[in-house]
Parts: sequence; C-alpha cells; structure tokens
Amino acid sequence: MRFSTKLIHNASTIDPATGAASPPIHHASTFHQDPANGAARFVYSRSKNPTRSILEDTIAELEEGIAGFAFASGMAAIAAVLMLFSSGDHLIVAKDLYGGTDQILKQLSQRFGLEVTYVDMTDLVNVASQIGPRTRAIYIETPSNPTLTITDLRAIGALAAQHHLVTIADNTFMSPYLQQPLKLGLDIVIHSATKFLAGHSDVIAGLVVVNSPAIKTQLEQIQVTWGAILGPDDSWLTIRGIKTLAIRLDRAQSNAMTLAQFLSHHPLVNRVYYPGLFTHSQKSLHESQALGPGAVLSFELDPQLPVKEFVSRLHYAIYAVSLGGVETIVSHPATMSHAKMAPIDRQAIGVTDQLLRISAGIEDVDDLIEDFQQALF
Ligand SMILES: *Cc1c(COP(=O)(O)O)cnc(C)c1O
Repeated sequence: MRFSTKLIHNASTIDPATGAASPPIHHASTFHQDPANGAARFVYSRSKNPTRSILEDTIAELEEGIAGFAFASGMAAIAAVLMLFSSGDHLIVAKDLYGGTDQILKQLSQRFGLEVTYVDMTDLVNVASQIGPRTRAIYIETPSNPTLTITDLRAIGALAAQHHLVTIADNTFMSPYLQQPLKLGLDIVIHSATKFLAGHSDVIAGLVVVNSPAIKTQLEQIQVTWGAILGPDDSWLTIRGIKTLAIRLDRAQSNAMTLAQFLSHHPLVNRVYYPGLFTHSQKSLHESQALGPGAVLSFELDPQLPVKEFVSRLHYAIYAVSLGGVETIVSHPATMSHAKMAPIDRQAIGVTDQLLRISAGIEDVDDLIEDFQQALF
C-alpha cells in the first residue's frame, strides 16, 4: 500500500462494531469490566481510550513504528519523551530547537539536573566529540525552525547506535508524508499534530511514535501516570485531518516553492531559507532523506521595509504563530516563537528582527503571489 492510500485505509477506516466509515467519538471515562473475565481492553480513558487508540495506531502505522501515543499538545508529547531521562543524564540537542522545547530543556536542566549540551547538528565531528559517559540521547529537528537547517538523519542514527544513545526527532515540519525518521535509523519521532497532521488550525495535539519495545513500555507508563492525554474529540479531529495530509501538503508545498522563488528574486528580500531552492546549501542532503522541501520557508525582509508595515498590508496570509494549516500563516519569530530567547542567542541562530516565516496554505497560488507582490514595496 502506498502512503496516500494508507492515509485513508488504516486503523480509522471502518468501525468494527458498526461498519461506520468514520470512527465513533468515545467519551466514556470508564468501561464495564466483566467480573468473570480478567483483562479488559479498555479500563479507564486516561490509560486507553478507543478513539485515541485509533489515532495512536494510525500514526504508528504512518511512521512505521511499533506504537503511537497521543498527548494534549506537542509540548505535552515532548515533555513525556523527556521524562524518559533522569537527573544526571546528559542530552545533546540542536541549538536551533523549537522555542518551547528550548524552554522546557532549560527548566529541566536547571531544576532537575538534566545536563543539556546545545550543538550545531550539521557539524557531526563536534556532535561526536560531545558524547560522554552520561550521554543518553540526541534530540534533533530537521528542517529546523525557522532557518530550515538540515540535520543528516542517517548519520545521527549511526553515530547514536555506536554509542547506544536514544535518538529523538521532532518531525513536525515534514510529517510522515515527506520524511520518516524511524526508517532512517532513529528511535523516537515526535509531532506537534496541531500543525500539518491535523492541518486546519482547529486543534492542539501531540503525537509520539517509537520503535523499541522497551521505550514503548516506559512511555505507556509515563502517559498514564503523568496523564497529559489527548481527549476523544481532539483525537477525532486529528484522525480526520490526517486523511487529507497528502493532498494538502502537495498543494501547500507547491505554493511554498512558488513563493520561495518569487521572494528570492524580489529586491526587498535579502535572503530566503527553503530547502527546495538551489541556494540552500543542504538541498541535496535534505533530498536524500525527505521526499520534498515542505511548506515552510523563511525570508529576511530588507530593513527599508519595516516588518509591521509589510504584514499589515497582507490580505490573505494571517499574521500569527503556528503553521501547517490550510491558510497561509506569516509569523515573526523574533517576537513570537523565539521571543523568550535572549536577543544574542536569537542572533546566533539567524533569528533577526527582519526574519519572517511563512507556512504556505492551500490557497490559489496566484492570489498568494499577487498579495505578497502588493505588500512588498
Ligand atoms: C508547534 C510545535 C511544537 C509544539 O507543539 P504544540 O502542539 O504547540 O504544543 C513542537 N515542535 C515544533 C517543531 C512545533 O512547530
């Protein structure tokens, strides 16, 4: 079965109890247990809920892992994965991580004694040199946010395997349609399903997929005891969103490519970051591990044109945080996703005050280009 077919024909396709072509939303918190019969499949919805299970089985299938877990948000998913580690453990993480992940790592390292080293993941020699006796894991995002830096997934997987480290990839920007880190040798995939998977800017959700039975058992315990589970309504919205992932992303990616080319020729744009452009130095590395450049790009507006003036002239793109919706979203990392980061750290990862990130939506591309064109003067 090809991927686009799998999006439609998976754990969610037919409800075995009724034949329904859309899964039921099970609100039950508790389930009757047959006193004569031991183990019940469902006991209490914090540990397992039938609607959530459909989503968890679906994402496990799409990422080709052995188990999926659905959480109340992408951050809850990340927090749950970080609970796999203990005080004194050392993690090697990418220096240009999602802002929320950066915040949680700083808190965990300060208050719980987790040692965290921030590295440039493109420098594999340096990554290897940071591995010590207490190192337990490597945590990456590729392409990174918001400057779309590419990390070599196979190389990180191989390096980690040599040292028995757990590898974690936040795959939010690509989704399993474009990139499948587990197949390239990584151990844990995380998604903010709020973005491309759910796809309509109407739900906050997080997913994790693992491929080792030992990590599966640990995460099951973390999910049920910490309890930051995804509710049945949000599970259902995410299940429905996933069905159209391929067609949405095909269109959004093609719109992103057209916008990237348009912007890279515009005199008021000083730089465009997008792994689909020949000017991206890691284009071929990205293409060796992903099926497309995705729908997110960033660009540096010329200082002649203030960011606020430019974004207030846009008619279609909404000016907001988040990405992966059907509508085009323009965001300003310096005051939005990276606002909590010290200005000097922001500069070091390329998040200047003139940097804007676009998450291309699925509008008619001619309308998008006309809109950007009229706003750029
Ligand atoms: C949005 C996002 C998150 C956080 O997810 P929420 O669903 O907002 O909690 C984590 N990682 C990346 C790459 C994101 O874009």
